[in-house]
Amino acid sequence: MRVGGPADRIITASTRDELIDRAVELWETREDWLLLGGGSNTVVADEGYPGPVLLVRTSGLEIVDDPELGAGSVRLRVQAGHDWDALVAECVERGWAGIEALSGIPGLAGAAPVQNIGAYGQELSDVLHSIEFLDAETYEPRRMLAAELGLGYRDSVLKQGLQGVVLSIDLVLADAAVLTSASSGPVPVSGRIRFPQLASAVGVELGSRVPLAVVRSAVLSLRASKGMVLDAEDHDSWSAGSFFTNPIVSAHFARALPAGAPTFPLGEQEVEPAVLSLDEFNAGVPVSIPEANPDQRVKLSAAWLIEQSGVPKGFRLPGSGAAISSKHTLAITNRGAATAEDIGELARLIVQRVQQEFGVLLVPEPNLYGIEL
Ligand SMILES: Cc1cc2nc3c(=O)[nH]c(=O)nc-3n(C[C@H](O)[C@H](O)[C@H](O)COP(=O)(O)OP(=O)(O)OC[C@H]3O[C@@H](n4cnc5c(N)ncnc54)[C@H](O)[C@@H]3O)c2cc1C
Repeated sequence: MRVGGPADRIITASTRDELIDRAVELWETREDWLLLGGGSNTVVADEGYPGPVLLVRTSGLEIVDDPELGAGSVRLRVQAGHDWDALVAECVERGWAGIEALSGIPGLAGAAPVQNIGAYGQELSDVLHSIEFLDAETYEPRRMLAAELGLGYRDSVLKQGLQGVVLSIDLVLADAAVLTSASSGPVPVSGRIRFPQLASAVGVELGSRVPLAVVRSAVLSLRASKGMVLDAEDHDSWSAGSFFTNPIVSAHFARALPAGAPTFPLGEQEVEPAVLSLDEFNAGVPVSIPEANPDQRVKLSAAWLIEQSGVPKGFRLPGSGAAISSKHTLAITNRGAATAEDIGELARLIVQRVQQEFGVLLVPEPNLYGIEL
């Protein structure tokens, strides 16, 4: 977002052992400190961070020999500081399927489980095997299986406060899934496309498989059209991605919303709406709430709620350097000279408007330090 003040002190860890040593040293001082990957999901107040900040700058990718893996799968170990999109690019290149729709998400691998990153019908939880976790209680590294991480929609036990450092993540991806094409020979293909907008961008039916590289390039184009690929020239990408998560409410509550409010039942048919704009929801596949199950939990569109509460794309308060992205209602952006306070002020206004209008409390997606909403 390019806002916020300096850290009191910056410490950099470039190897796994350094990361462990520096983290343990900091815990032993008993002072508050901040762990930072790429910083793309973190917003710090203008006063800065009043303690040390440990930067994760490890890297590396290796294949893990796992006798329990079935044929056609590959298990990868990725160090926490490895760039996420570089990882996706390499997997696509090598024909490993499972994270191609997560192309273009900024940040580093170690932060990916923290909010269980997701986009365009894929989530990290689909492929995460385990993490190596340095526990702040014991100061010892231990392996935690994905099932122990409470991974949900933009959520995990790490996000909920489990203290420690992700040292590396292990993914299980599909290998050698091939589509035989008469013209180009065998081509590695993606998992089934589960996101309507991606299917239509690629020109196939939902549930189809297409070459991995086609998915990656379609996702990167879709993301760029929404300002969701980092680009120094595009102020719409000077953001933390989606600033609010899509609220999850009961079907009963959702029925009281105005007609036309998009709702997505949670469960097998779930459609991932994290990066949908209002226009896309309107153009997408409408999913009605099942009448028979009033306890069904449904996901609302935060973008729709924000727009309907009177805050359109491009909205900016007088004199503020922050504005809603001109391409995506969910992104609060820095137009060049915003302060962290400008970002906070706009976020507070949105939360108030949506609460007054619909009785729904929006929850910020990024990690905020020194900023109260
Ligand atoms: C333009 C843009 C688009 C985005 N699009 C998406 C999207 O489509 N889907 C999505 O899910 N997210 C999206 N995001 C959010 C963001 O990219 C992800 O959350 C990403 O995983 C953050 O990585 P990071 O390294 O930058 O995290 P940081 O901001 O550095 O850290 C985020 C949090 O994780 C903690 N953390 C970081 N590293 C570790 C570690 N090794 N161990 C333990 N805790 C750690 C930090 O302390 C902090 O609390 C987007 C962001 C931007 C700016």
